[in-house]
Amino acid sequence: MTMPSMELSRNAKDFIDDDYLQKLADSACDDKVKIREIIAKSLKKEALTVEETASLLAATPELTEEIFEAARELKDTVYGNRIVLFAPLYIGNKCINDCSYCGFKCSNPDTLRRTLTMDELEQQVVALEKQGHKRLILVYGEHPDYDANFIADTVRKVYATKSEPHGEIRRVNINAAPLDIEGYKIVKAAGIGTFQIFQETYHKKTYAECHPMRTRKGDYLWRLDGLDRAMEGGIDDVGIGALFGLYNWKFEVLGLVSHALHLQTKYGVGPHTISFPRMRPACGVEVEQNFYVSDDEFKKLIAVLRLAVPYTGLICTARESPEMRRIATGFGVSQIDAGSRIEIGGYTEVGDAQVMEKEQFCLGDIRSLDNVMRELIENGYIPSFCTSCYRLGRTGEHFMEFAVPGFIKRFCTPNALCTLEEYLCDYSSDATREAGEKLIKEELEKIDKPEMKEMVIERLNQIRTENKRDLYF
Ligand code: SAM
Ligand code: SF4
Repeated sequence: MTMPSMELSRNAKDFIDDDYLQKLADSACDDKVKIREIIAKSLKKEALTVEETASLLAATPELTEEIFEAARELKDTVYGNRIVLFAPLYIGNKCINDCSYCGFKCSNPDTLRRTLTMDELEQQVVALEKQGHKRLILVYGEHPDYDANFIADTVRKVYATKSEPHGEIRRVNINAAPLDIEGYKIVKAAGIGTFQIFQETYHKKTYAECHPMRTRKGDYLWRLDGLDRAMEGGIDDVGIGALFGLYNWKFEVLGLVSHALHLQTKYGVGPHTISFPRMRPACGVEVEQNFYVSDDEFKKLIAVLRLAVPYTGLICTARESPEMRRIATGFGVSQIDAGSRIEIGGYTEVGDAQVMEKEQFCLGDIRSLDNVMRELIENGYIPSFCTSCYRLGRTGEHFMEFAVPGFIKRFCTPNALCTLEEYLCDYSSDATREAGEKLIKEELEKIDKPEMKEMVIERLNQIRTENKRDLYF
């Protein structure tokens, strides 16, 4: 951090036209024919324009039901019934920024500042592996201690940490402050999956109010340009997001879609994921409720995002209640975290009330991974820990080539079944195992190509009886 970010962001392109997005967010649309045409376009798996997205956001309650239906259908045709599972791992909560909504903000005297040592990191990873996790997202405050080399060291440590019987983390994603291009090259070399940065709010005035200019995060353009720099640094797998509750939710959806289209147009590849966390209460933080997003609005924003960006994964985190996550998975969410703890050290120190009170914000779903797995299975979803695309180089532009109709069902479903079988053999409760084996049988019946079915059965048997692991298509 040698140069103020204002200097660095001088050449960044501002692709957010606040006035135009505001006009679209405020617009009404009661033209049923037009809305149905937009839904039909989306069902053909074509990405929507910002204007088309705004029309869906403005749809009347009667048409909103059709939007929900279409979102369910699109999710099913593009993603099948898989839900990818991951866990967040908070590495350190030191922070130089003063974001109004976050428990880690530098002016919060109540936050116990802590960074995991490499030994502590190893203990956290082992605890996660013993739950059955294979995919993590590492989360960091913004601080000179957490530079690109530190992030890369923590990533390497996670990959190097193995445990009995077959514990290993196969994909490490990152949620950290934006880096410079050199920094991205360093973390890419450590083998990261997705680099995620949430813009928080795309509305510049609100952004300035929540992020004091004197702080590094106060530079809106440095952050907006953050994933462009990631692309320039060779990371073609990026995640965008907005923190819902800071400003008008429709404006933020349009900001997200503008961001996705910008990346798609400039680099030929859109974001791999979109996150849409709703603001949660946090220790030492007074959060204003002026832009609170109701459950109904939240459902609509998920469904509209699903239709607007058919090939982008949608993430719904444990900030939401089990009930809301159940609903969200039906409408288009493709990834959820489970068994999550967001206190530093929380995977081995659960029950320490003092630590629990010092977290970044409160979680809405603290069920165990096994409970979430069982519920998903009982509701007909295949929980997946698959990491095959990223490891076979099917990311970025290549991922887009592969994500053609049929591919996901042909390859992702078999991979999901194999990773589920691994979980059932190594980590599952009896009840989840019973439900899981039943689901696997049913899913095998649905595979129409006999050779493919044979291959999957063979791999499942190798996992069950020959103790083989990490078999993927
Ligand atoms: N420090 C980095 C940054 O700000 O980009 C990354 C980590 S930060 C801990 C991850 C995300 O948590 C933020 O981008 C923000 O959207 C979210 N967050 C912060 N405070 C929150 C709150 N009170 N409720 C829900 N999410 C919150
Ligand atoms: Fe720091 Fe990130 Fe929290 Fe802002 S959101 S205070 S940058 S940890």
